[in-house]
Amino acid sequence: MPIRVLPDDVASKIAAGEVVERPASVVKELIENSLDAQAGAVSVRIVQAGKLLIEVFDDGEGIPAEELELAVTRHATSKLAAPEDLTRIRTLGFRGEALASIAAVSRLSLASRPRDARSGARVLVEGGKLVSREVVGMDFGTEVRAEQLFYNVPARMKFLKQDVTERMQVVSLVQRYALAYPDVRFRLVAEEKPVLQTGASGDRREALAALLGPDVAAQMLEVSFHDEGLAVEGFISPVGLTRANRKDMTFFVNGRWVQNSSLASALLQAYHTYLMVGRYPLAVLFVALAPEAVDVNVHPTKSEVRFRDAQTVFSGVQRAVRRALLAYGGAAGVAVPELSWGKTREVPPAGFSSWDALGPAPREESRAPDQAQEESPADLGLRLPLLRPIGQVGATYLVAEGPDGLYLIDQHAAHERVLFEKLLDQMEDAVPTQALLEPVVVELPAHEAMLLESQLALLRGMGFEIEPFGVGSYRVRSVPQLFADGNVEAALRVVVGDFEEDESALQNLREARIAARVCKRMAVKAGQVLSTEEQRALIESLERCRSPRTCPHGRPTMIHLSAALLERQFGRQGSR
Ligand code: ADP
Ligand code: MG
Repeated sequence: MPIRVLPDDVASKIAAGEVVERPASVVKELIENSLDAQAGAVSVRIVQAGKLLIEVFDDGEGIPAEELELAVTRHATSKLAAPEDLTRIRTLGFRGEALASIAAVSRLSLASRPRDARSGARVLVEGGKLVSREVVGMDFGTEVRAEQLFYNVPARMKFLKQDVTERMQVVSLVQRYALAYPDVRFRLVAEEKPVLQTGASGDRREALAALLGPDVAAQMLEVSFHDEGLAVEGFISPVGLTRANRKDMTFFVNGRWVQNSSLASALLQAYHTYLMVGRYPLAVLFVALAPEAVDVNVHPTKSEVRFRDAQTVFSGVQRAVRRALLAYGGAAGVAVPELSWGKTREVPPAGFSSWDALGPAPREESRAPDQAQEESPADLGLRLPLLRPIGQVGATYLVAEGPDGLYLIDQHAAHERVLFEKLLDQMEDAVPTQALLEPVVVELPAHEAMLLESQLALLRGMGFEIEPFGVGSYRVRSVPQLFADGNVEAALRVVVGDFEEDESALQNLREARIAARVCKRMAVKAGQVLSTEEQRALIESLERCRSPRTCPHGRPTMIHLSAALLERQFGRQGSR
């Protein structure tokens, strides 16, 4: 075939495809336009997750009637005047592509009225073609309605996810912008129900609660760091609060929501040694620096940036986070600084490893037999002394006495840790299995069945012998001896539950995560009464663990009330 120039409508659909991937990308562009127009209030409404309708209106500067058509024309923008402006972008938009792209793949209505205009004007564009223009009565500001997204690009329509997923994307996007712009009033209505409404209080905590829920938001630590030419503000989680994926790590650079791996690694580096492999902090960080120091012209969706001096930004973010962690004793995992858990915060717990997929997984790190003999003094600090079980409190905590005070042990977290280390140990050669007298049949919905199918080999390595048993059904023939008494079906469901989130490329990291999840499921629960014998056995197993002080998910298994602390608290010390 000879080379031909693509017809306009094909070219514009291709261009649109780079900017508009899904309903959330439309919402993002429209919100950014409203913010660029200095809106004080931005209202978003979606119907059918935005597939049927996306509507955004604002009370911003508006567009003069005679410029409406230009606004939906490709490469038409009011935000760039001279070529060198590209090197110092102060607005969220600058390419003049968004409205044209949205108009190319939907039925778009753009109505606007600047403050000084007596009436508004509206244009309708369908699949990129102007179909009408009219004068309309309206409040000042701008209203954009995009209907039937991708009606003329069936290929793209097919790639949209289920409504729940697309809707969540929109919700989480609006929540994040609400957080980034606390002076702007945001409102989101999805399927006729109000989902989010923020005041313009300027207080980010309010929007943080909307994003993370009030309980989690209340635990977040504040970051406020200002160095020459760089400001880092926002919130991070204390070390005890983690997630299994990076979805709750959010970065804004100069008011723009971005994906940036060096910001992510700066954050994670700051938590280095505080987090279990495969666990991630929660964070919403706002990085501000001179526009000249950032290149935002990297990606069609403007969601990537490059820093002129990446190293400075990296170390600034890392210091900002580290400082906040230390200032709040956030690294202690518990609030009381005297507790011995708190004192260990500068010492990497044994068996812990960096977050990073490049870092060694825990198995490698502490497993080589010859390494066992040469534990560093810090490791021996961290091992448990011999404990004398005293009893159980509230069917949830075990109480034990050690050479230096009292230990309160969370039975569930402790058992998780014990099972986890045993299972990983066994996986080194062969996991002892137990055949089920009656094989259990588990039925799974299609997407979970696919996940399970892809994990069968890994599960076999963990001691689960599973075979396909008709469409969407699996028969479990044997299970790891460790879990012989547990609920097999529950264990399998954990493996497939939110599995998509595991993006690690490293096999043993994935294994460790799955093992941790299964162990969590199989561990004794809070509220379960344990016999004296069971209490003793659990404490003894915990004493043998390499990292007895945290559960595999990074939460503390115990609180140590040292003799000195008790003396201080009872006013014995110093009174003598
Ligand atoms: P860009 O934002 O890159 O300039 P867009 O296609 O998103 O490109 O918008 C084109 C132009 O339309 C903008 O430069 C701006 O002048 C105008 N515009 C778009 N949305 C709004 C809005 N909500 N309020 C005021 N002006 C707007
Ligand atoms: Mg724009």
